[in-house]
Amino acid sequence: MEKILKTIRNVPDFPKPGIQFKDITPILHDPQLCREITDAFVEKLGGSRIDAVVGIESRGFLFGILLAQKLNVPFVMVRKSGKLPFTTVGMDYALEYGTARIEIHTDALQPGWNVVLHDDLLATGGTAAAAARLIEMQGAQVAAFTFVVELGFLGGRKNLGEHAGNIISLVNYDGE
Ligand code: AMP
Repeated sequence: MEKILKTIRNVPDFPKPGIQFKDITPILHDPQLCREITDAFVEKLGGSRIDAVVGIESRGFLFGILLAQKLNVPFVMVRKSGKLPFTTVGMDYALEYGTARIEIHTDALQPGWNVVLHDDLLATGGTAAAAARLIEMQGAQVAAFTFVVELGFLGGRKNLGEHAGNIISLVNYDGE
């Protein structure tokens, strides 16, 4: 979607040198564009049965909750370690340097549920793959991944294929 590409702010060398940060905050200034993004996800999901939307902290909460509202299904947060108050199950995953941990409430999903897993941006796919494992540990499955932005040149998609065939992104930076 041309309008998304025009609206995203590219911030060089944030949070560290060599990274070009895709800042989606200008999108949030445009309520019409936010509606169009949410509607585009719904359209691309194509009417398949969805029981919940899971959003990854923290920018995955933004369109995650809008999408869950539009689909009229529960919204579930995947959060960084130590943030969720109730009983959790967690998953460690590798970062460029060191590891990180994400968690989900143990009662958030029902076995057999078809889940949409949402984040603002797909980079290497490490975070989304770890979140997919958390969903699968609850006996649910990832019906589709949704991202506003995909950094295609990083090849993150290949880390998600074992979890779901349907990987939706609205804009793709392929050649950077
Ligand atoms: P990854 O696990 O490598 O796919 O990283 C995905 C997470 O890091 C997402 O939650 C993104 O919000 C964030 N992220 C990674 N790279 C960027 C970038 N260039 N611009 C904005 N966010 C990014």
